[in-house]
Amino acid sequence: MVGQALAAAETRIRLQTNSVEDEKQSRHRVVIVGGGFAGLYAARELGKDAAIEVTLVDRRNYHLFQPLLYQVATGALSPGDIAQPLRAILRRNCNTRVVLGEAVALEPAARRVVLSDGGTVEYDTLIVATGARHAYFGRDEWAPLAPGLKTIEDATEIRRRILIAYEAAEREADPARRAEWMTFVVVGAGPTGVELAGALGEIARDTLRRDFRSIRPADARVLLVEALDRVLPTYPEKLSQSARRQLERLGVTVRTSTKVTAIDDSGIDVAVRGEGSERSERISTRTILWAAGVQASSFGGRVAEALGVTTNRAGRVPVDSDLTVDGHPEVMILGDLAVAIWSGGKPVPGVAPAAIQEGIYAAKAIRRRVRGEAPQPFRYRDRGDVAVIGRLSGVADIRWLGRLGQRSGFIAWGMWLGVHIVYLIGFANRLVVIIRWAWSFLTHGRGTRLITGEPHLPPIKQPNRLD
Ligand SMILES: Cc1cc2nc3c(=O)[nH]c(=O)nc-3n(C[C@H](O)[C@H](O)[C@H](O)COP(=O)(O)OP(=O)(O)OC[C@H]3O[C@@H](n4cnc5c(N)ncnc54)[C@H](O)[C@@H]3O)c2cc1C
Repeated sequence: MVGQALAAAETRIRLQTNSVEDEKQSRHRVVIVGGGFAGLYAARELGKDAAIEVTLVDRRNYHLFQPLLYQVATGALSPGDIAQPLRAILRRNCNTRVVLGEAVALEPAARRVVLSDGGTVEYDTLIVATGARHAYFGRDEWAPLAPGLKTIEDATEIRRRILIAYEAAEREADPARRAEWMTFVVVGAGPTGVELAGALGEIARDTLRRDFRSIRPADARVLLVEALDRVLPTYPEKLSQSARRQLERLGVTVRTSTKVTAIDDSGIDVAVRGEGSERSERISTRTILWAAGVQASSFGGRVAEALGVTTNRAGRVPVDSDLTVDGHPEVMILGDLAVAIWSGGKPVPGVAPAAIQEGIYAAKAIRRRVRGEAPQPFRYRDRGDVAVIGRLSGVADIRWLGRLGQRSGFIAWGMWLGVHIVYLIGFANRLVVIIRWAWSFLTHGRGTRLITGEPHLPPIKQPNRLD
């Protein structure tokens, strides 16, 4: 009797297990490479659908909120404030698996992504959202001399270089060398360059003003070098001018129409364009930060090659109106890696809101396809641009508000704050960031001024006497 009951229960369990396996096998497999804004928002949206199985592959175990990286680079926030583990964000999505791995190749015939350790992941639909990195216009040898800002490691390296420069200036007796240490050059006056230069100006004139004994941090020179004729070239002219004035108020010297021609470990050579002429100039400095030019991620190039598509000059992959690659409806490219056409033939800009919208769109399009329906074309909704320049000032161009949306100063800064808090992933992060900001505004401080990484000690040529 007991034996019969046990056998019946066993059969029931086997049948249930089989049906779970069958259900699993019949699920549509979506593989997402890249857990940045585009990939993460796609995964979150797909997490609601039991008919879909999601695998998110990223070479980092965290999602990084890149727009606040410069705050880490300048000691206002800690790395943990702007990064959140992908597993934690997606832990409630039972249909989603997170894989720590670097995608290195695509085998389109087998519908398989190959990882650097030789592992493979098979897909029915593939989303590639591996973003972009900084580019040195073919001068990759400049990279170690002028770090760019893209990762947590970049941010802590830049923070180290800025703080080491002040420490070295404090110990250096030779006036020329001291001046070199106290000169900071930011190359590129797009939003990242403007934000970095503004923060450097503020550090010199405000944050560090009482911290040193041999030097006056306010004597530091901060130069913002831009090849075009104005800062924030994608903003309306009026806002560019306002941004320039706000930077100058923070003590930043803005050098437009000035192109970098060489970089070495003691300075930078530039070509300055005047009316009908060009002259060269040398700027001696120990700290050069790179905020010019972006290039699509290298995996994007491999995907394009495997699918037989030609990328644009920045390595971005062209996509159709449903964000799939021409001739490959099973491959979607999103975010900074994609060239999706918006209005008037213009490409969708490489900004976080565009990547988020594309991620959400891709998930909805996949769900429609799985249900046998055709997806609508992707439509980008432009939310505008905001850049912050030091404490309580900035510029905003909220285009759908027309001229009313063109703001400078405190209102723009307030808009920036609101947007960044809303999009920051995780309640704890939001709370910590708000508290840290409130504290640093009250105290004029940048609490995370830690020198980490190597070398800890600056190379001093002529150390001053301390007795
Ligand atoms: C310093 C800085 C400041 C910015 N400020 C702003 C701002 O104020 N406002 C704004 O709207 N936008 C800003 N941006 C741009 C914005 O961050 C990007 O447009 C956005 O991050 C693009 O999202 P994405 O998903 O395409 O790529 P990303 O967010 O870059 O994500 C790409 C992901 O792919 C992963 N990855 C890359 N290669 C591989 C691989 N081979 N295998 C596995 N994983 C891989 C990476 O680890 C990363 O997690 C800023 C960018 C930077 C760098």
